[in-house]
Amino acid sequence: MRRGTNSLEVKKLNRNRVFRYVNSLSETSMPDISAALDISGPTVLTIVKELKDAGVVAEVGELQSTGGRKAKAIAAVKDARCAIGVDITANHVGIAYTDLARKVLKHERIRKPFACEDVYFRELSEILRRFVEENRIPETKMEGVGISLPGIVDRQKNILTQSHILNIKDLSRERLADYIPYPCELLNDANAAAITEGVDFKDPESNMVYLSLSNSVGGAVIFADEMKSNDGIRSDYDGGAMYMGNNWRSGEFGHMVVHPEGKTCYCGKKGCLDAYCSALNLAQLENGDLKGFFQKLESGTGEYRRIWEEYMYDLAIVVDNLRMCFDCEVVLGGYVGNYMEPYIEQFRAIAAAKNIFGGSGAYVRVCRYREEASAFGAALYQIEKYISKI
Ligand SMILES: [Zn+2]
Repeated sequence: MRRGTNSLEVKKLNRNRVFRYVNSLSETSMPDISAALDISGPTVLTIVKELKDAGVVAEVGELQSTGGRKAKAIAAVKDARCAIGVDITANHVGIAYTDLARKVLKHERIRKPFACEDVYFRELSEILRRFVEENRIPETKMEGVGISLPGIVDRQKNILTQSHILNIKDLSRERLADYIPYPCELLNDANAAAITEGVDFKDPESNMVYLSLSNSVGGAVIFADEMKSNDGIRSDYDGGAMYMGNNWRSGEFGHMVVHPEGKTCYCGKKGCLDAYCSALNLAQLENGDLKGFFQKLESGTGEYRRIWEEYMYDLAIVVDNLRMCFDCEVVLGGYVGNYMEPYIEQFRAIAAAKNIFGGSGAYVRVCRYREEASAFGAALYQIEKYISKI
């Protein structure tokens, strides 16, 4: 617990811990909550009443008795709040929604080339309206919309300050708010995707670097210690768990140089990882079809095997550098990460050979969430923000 925590904060922290505990299980009981979290029975009783009054916890029958009085079964009202995530890319819009259970309830991807014009934003608004309608998402329960974008996002001002991919200099939340009838937040796409990897953390053990290998290469840095600082529970990501840097530019791993004087990157510099390891490098061999590339690789085309090995070699340079910087787990995500499971042992061997401290390369793993990760993560961001205030 942080130093100087007063009794009101302790009460708030305990209420939050109780909700997260209940939310992590299908059902539980007050004696169980009390034992698991080491909070007194009367305090648990008070907190559960508050959570019931807030509509986020409910009694759902009785638990099987192990002798004595039957305990009331308590469960989180998973659909008490929901949120939508929208991922804007150069050519598509990804959309996903989730609720307090933090599972993807529905997702889809629509081809829609980006243009920073009213007509695009009106169409985006229409996509959102149709999605809400088709999935019967109750507007009264909507916490908000998280919007993921490929570029530098100033989280404090909620402005996209730079995006090579979308070819724009700035895009503010206010501009979008004219078209989106819910509270919205802007997030960097790789940061949003990284949030999905933390969703299974009940009590995060390890720090994580997330490397997003999509049509551009980006990443995120998550410090588990910051998540744990609230007495073992996750703080929301603005609380410091995600390292953003002094200028919101942390995690731009795509512009780390792997080949000095090498290929020119879209940023203008030579030899950036992005020029070698963006998904486009592989997809362009199959007319933009990344799946097609991996299918041909699987069927054993010699040329594709050579290209893939070079890809993994370049990637391993940065993965090893990240391991040197952060000494933590490195997660391979984004479009290419989705296809890397069959090759992860081979990749680990390449990465391990570079590591001066030895080891097996087990610190690298493939992402767990593979479909619309940025959209899902942007929705989770809104849900986490809500949960952290319970
Ligand atoms: Zn670059």
